[in-house]
Amino acid sequence: MPDSRPNILFIMSDDHAAHAISTYGSVINETPNIDRIASEGARFDNVFCGNAICAPSRATILAGTHSHVNGVLTLSDRFDGSQVTFPKLMQAAGYQTAIFGKWHLGHGGEADPTGFDAWSVLPGQGDYHDPTFFVQGEEQRFDGYVTDLITDFSLDWLEHRDPDRPFMLMTHHKAPHRPWEPDDKHAAMYDDIDIPLPETWDDDYATRPAAEAALMRVGRDMTFTDLKAEPPAHLSDEEARHWAYQRYIKDYLRCVAAVDDNIGRMLDWLDANDLADNTIVIYTSDQGFFLGDHGWYDKRFMYEESLRMPFVMRYPREVAPGSVVDAMVSNIDFAPTFLDHAGLDVPGVMQGVSFREVAGGQVPEEWQDSIYYRYWMHLEHHGVAAHYGVRTATHKLIYYYGEALGTTGSIDRDTEPYWELFDLQADPNELNNIHGGPEVSGVQAELHAELDRLMVHYGDTPVA
Ligand code: CA
Repeated sequence: MPDSRPNILFIMSDDHAAHAISTYGSVINETPNIDRIASEGARFDNVFCGNAICAPSRATILAGTHSHVNGVLTLSDRFDGSQVTFPKLMQAAGYQTAIFGKWHLGHGGEADPTGFDAWSVLPGQGDYHDPTFFVQGEEQRFDGYVTDLITDFSLDWLEHRDPDRPFMLMTHHKAPHRPWEPDDKHAAMYDDIDIPLPETWDDDYATRPAAEAALMRVGRDMTFTDLKAEPPAHLSDEEARHWAYQRYIKDYLRCVAAVDDNIGRMLDWLDANDLADNTIVIYTSDQGFFLGDHGWYDKRFMYEESLRMPFVMRYPREVAPGSVVDAMVSNIDFAPTFLDHAGLDVPGVMQGVSFREVAGGQVPEEWQDSIYYRYWMHLEHHGVAAHYGVRTATHKLIYYYGEALGTTGSIDRDTEPYWELFDLQADPNELNNIHGGPEVSGVQAELHAELDRLMVHYGDTPVA
């Protein structure tokens, strides 16, 4: 009897913000192939990561658990591959499994990918041009552009798979991660235009001390490697800042354009091989990114631009074309969802819930109406203080607790603890911290109670 379980093609990029995808309303670029996944399937408008930085988000996706459970709290933690992951369970259940591209969870021993029949991953961040890969652990250098190569490896593996068994393939792009090096094909894209500035470009950070202290400002906190040129000498400080934004955002969008082209190659391959109907195709990114928003690049903060993950999903058997899903989903929910589609039980250690029904348009009455977040990497790299918080449909509560708590990859220097609260309807850009204001006492108490509840639910420990 033929195996009717669906294939899963999980395409994830690195640092691709939803607001640089046209189906999410981007005003700065177009992404026709990502848009095609959404128009032939669903666009999820409220998918959030539990920790907005590369390695922790990747660990969460594999294990279906928050950082304090899977052990990858910061960029310095290696993933312990002996823990339960969804690829391991799917492989054991007869799926063919592979991962190509960015791994970023350590190398050697238990940190190497487990649960995959085949893998070729970039060492650490990897290079954009002529990159080295660890091919099943063996170091090998390839000529070409990283986004094309990762797609080549993926398609080659698909070509040579056993067509009688389902597959689960993770195609993990390095792009558009810093230092934003485009390929030759897109090098001159946007040369003749100015990319518009985001609404919050001139954020003054009043009421938000952690934001004021962050070292991720476009211009001031960028390097020559980021900008690939020195600002022209005649520019004023303000002009140099605008110049840096144009340099940065254009290279970022050029890298995105190559990702989008390569997604088109994969969609075409599925069509040509008659696999579009029985393959769940997902495009997402490990977290969002600041695209000049709040004057910044990078991520880490629980603010919308970095917290939100783009997430589009095509699966003609269950997901109606052109659907828009508003229900809240967290990246702990990915693994349970994939296991559900594969007809497998979700192990008790996993903390997420399957959103299979939600994607099909049926939102259960008791569906989650808040998500939990915790960024652990106190002050390292960009001066962002560690914090945790809760987001509901209408509000967000954040606590900057002000210490490293002994985490590796943090800076052991205390900062002043304080809370932030935002009304996301009145203040969607999160410019006005209203925590402690008299007009919010009711909702503030509810949010504190919800945060307490989530910390108990997920087994995390509040900082006293
Ligand atoms: Ca990332």
